[in-house]
Amino acid sequence: MSSNFLRFLKMGRSSKDKRDIYYRLAKEEGWRARSAFKLLQIDEEFDIFKDVTRVVDLCAAPGSWSQVLSRKLTKDGTAGGDVKIVAVDLQAMAPLPGVIQIQGDITKRSTAEQIISEFSGQQAQLVVCDGAPDVTGLHDLDEYIQAQLLLAALNITTHVLAPGGTFVAKIFRGKDVTLLYSQLKVFFSRVTVAKPRSSRNSSIESFVVCEDYRPPEGYVPNMTNPLLDHQYSDLDQLSGPNRVLVPFLACGDLSGYDADLTYPLQLSEGAEYEYRPPNQPPINPPYQDAVEKKRTDQLAKPGGDCPTTPDAAVSLSASDVDRTAALSLQEPAGAEGDG
Ligand code: SAM
Repeated sequence: MSSNFLRFLKMGRSSKDKRDIYYRLAKEEGWRARSAFKLLQIDEEFDIFKDVTRVVDLCAAPGSWSQVLSRKLTKDGTAGGDVKIVAVDLQAMAPLPGVIQIQGDITKRSTAEQIISEFSGQQAQLVVCDGAPDVTGLHDLDEYIQAQLLLAALNITTHVLAPGGTFVAKIFRGKDVTLLYSQLKVFFSRVTVAKPRSSRNSSIESFVVCEDYRPPEGYVPNMTNPLLDHQYSDLDQLSGPNRVLVPFLACGDLSGYDADLTYPLQLSEGAEYEYRPPNQPPINPPYQDAVEKKRTDQLAKPGGDCPTTPDAAVSLSASDVDRTAALSLQEPAGAEGDG
């Protein structure tokens, strides 16, 4: 391979490392996704892991929140013994020691029932949900689907959370978010919206931290509950006690790294930047067939195993070589769009 081509590949690989400090730190610290910092920064503010041994991690793939949970809940960083971590996602997730995995849709009753049965009589003290839909770009629709995920997570939570427990979930602060706050306030004494430092300001993503689970007296958890109620049309019209305002809190070290800024690569004098591959590449990503086909086409071309022209280098580096790395630390497609 020509030295120009090698330099080109390195530049391509390091550009995301330069642009996104949390993406780079995640790889350095061994997290599967930059999202790990969001949960860690929420914990810095709310101490959510105190006295917690049983947790449900909803929408968990690729698993950085489960990694945080097993590191925080155990001495040696491996779940097991008294600690129970149940992780659920639509996508397959590479195994994590001691983490029970369920592959399924959290809006489906069958998945909810599987989660509940894992706890057979016991209750969790914490439920977290970082669920995000694949965004369409149509904001109303994206917010609606996100709200559905949150309500599905809340429904599951009502079955497994112990009184006094905590529920943390991603929320899109769209125009109808007030209804969600009201619904959460029915079940929790304290509801706060947290914006971790590692979540971009440009994103409508935030996290509700719902503390002190207190279902209404006589409330019977029921998986057939409807999700978002369609009767409400103009939620900003809610007033008086029906309109719930919840505190909004920035968390994480506010003088620390800003997720919206670009930081230079930290190189010691004269040293060349060393690229790290992501810790956990995706399993069967949807683009795999296309990449394989392109690679085969490339090889089929005369002299195709080693691109020699700049054009060939561009096409190989952008889509074939670096794509796995770029996508493997991915954020929810909709929330931040920063891959
Ligand atoms: N917290 C994860 C981590 O730290 O690695 C990242 C979660 S990622 C932002 C959002 C996840 O939500 C995706 O893996 C996606 O498959 C999952 N998801 C979206 N809709 C879902 C659903 N209906 N049921 C289960 N998982 C869902």
